[in-house]
Formats: sequence, structure tokens, C-alpha cells
Amino acid sequence: MEREREAALRLLDAVEAEKCHGCGCMHAVVLMLEDDLAGAGSLPGGELGRALEAARSVLKQVETDCRGCEPCLPMAALKAARGMEE
Ligand SMILES: [Zn+2]
Ligand SMILES: [Zn+2]
Repeated sequence: MEREREAALRLLDAVEAEKCHGCGCMHAVVLMLEDDLAGAGSLPGGELGRALEAARSVLKQVETDCRGCEPCLPMAALKAARGMEE
């Protein structure tokens, strides 16, 4: 699924952006995408599932809601997953 693929790529960008690992937005987006995946009945192990696992493994304790990173990479992943305009 194209959207899922796009979301996985964006999420991996966020995984590489170390400054975002302690952002509340990253945590929130990981939770929301996990919910979306579970709700969609997608099998674990898909591209987005793997990206979510990678994201989980780098999450740090939340230090701040969002550093206001420009662009906010986790948000971009959520928007891609839900087909929202940027
Ligand atoms: Zn951030
Ligand atoms: Zn953010």
C-alpha cells in the first residue's frame, strides 16, 4: 500500500533524526500509527511495522512535547499514513 510505504519512509527519517527521539510528538505518532496498523488488520512485519519497531527501539523518555523541529518528521509520517496534505 503506497501510503503505508510513504509513512514508513518518513518514519525512518525521524528515526535517523536523533534530536526527535525525546519529542512527545514522536511518541504520539508511534502510538497512533501502531493503532492505525492494528485497526487496519495489517500483518506485523510489513514495511510500516518494521519502521515502527525501529522507531520504538530509539524512543527516549519524553523531554518535551515537540521541539518544533522544522519539518517535524514524525508528523510528516503521520500525515503520509493518513493521506493528509502537508
Ligand atoms: Zn522533533
Ligand atoms: Zn515534532
